[in-house]
Amino acid sequence: MSNVNGKVIIITGASSGIGEATARMLAKNGAKVVLGARRADRLETIVKDIDAEGGIAEYQALDVTQRSQLEAIVQLAQSKFDRVDVLINNAGIMPLSTLDQLKVEEWDRMIDVNIKGVLYGIAAALPVMKAQKSGQIINLSSIGGHTVSPTAAVYCATKFAVGALSEGLRQEVGGDIRVTVISPGVTESELADSISDEAARLGMQEFRKLSIPASAIAHAILFAIEQPDHVDVSEIIVRPTASLH
Ligand code: NDP
Repeated sequence: MSNVNGKVIIITGASSGIGEATARMLAKNGAKVVLGARRADRLETIVKDIDAEGGIAEYQALDVTQRSQLEAIVQLAQSKFDRVDVLINNAGIMPLSTLDQLKVEEWDRMIDVNIKGVLYGIAAALPVMKAQKSGQIINLSSIGGHTVSPTAAVYCATKFAVGALSEGLRQEVGGDIRVTVISPGVTESELADSISDEAARLGMQEFRKLSIPASAIAHAILFAIEQPDHVDVSEIIVRPTASLH
């Protein structure tokens, strides 16, 4: 029996891209998935599809910048399924621009979603997992959590932060709770839609032609979850074979 079957798995940012592909793949493998994102209409459609294929899924509107909403989705998982086995902190945004454009509101939003959203997820799930004496927290970083490039300073800073938080968490809670970082390279999704700077958006269009499908990242997440409980897959980098970075 797979170590995914029957697990209760919360996925943030499940309304498109990597989160959606992961929700569909984990549900196919027998997980009970609990989906969160702001676009609840999209989540409803995904949950209906999963139901129609015999899977088990719930959803709730979620803004990860609001700590109470992460607490609420953890409570939903507990009330429906009695426990939380895995939290996938996947929600993220990437409005790229050079620092000298001073798009400070976009910097704030990236910090709020990509860093504080992850922290709020940890804050909501950790007490439950500690009480269960088991669990797994999977955080989505990026190739941008390993290297920095122009227009991506703030985005990369948020993803470096995800790496640091994950490693600190792993060292503190290892024993009962697994911590995994998934670092995708360029992947098909709606991520580049949040870029307001024209030059950065055009640059990304060229770069994103190499994109691998979101299912490639979902496979890596599935792999990390299905290992035996005493095996922690601490980090996986998945990128296009042709990618330089
Ligand atoms: P998408 O834009 O397709 O998905 C991002 C998801 O995050 C959406 O479901 C969106 O849903 C959700 N989201 C955004 N803001 C919030 C918020 N405030 N509260 C809750 N959910 C939110 O992009 P990806 O699938 O690519 O992104 C998933 C993760 O993968 C991100 O962390 C990203 O940084 C990372 N990544 C992606 C790469 C790529 O090339 N695609 C490369 C490296 C890393 P909604 O708008 O409905 O709230």
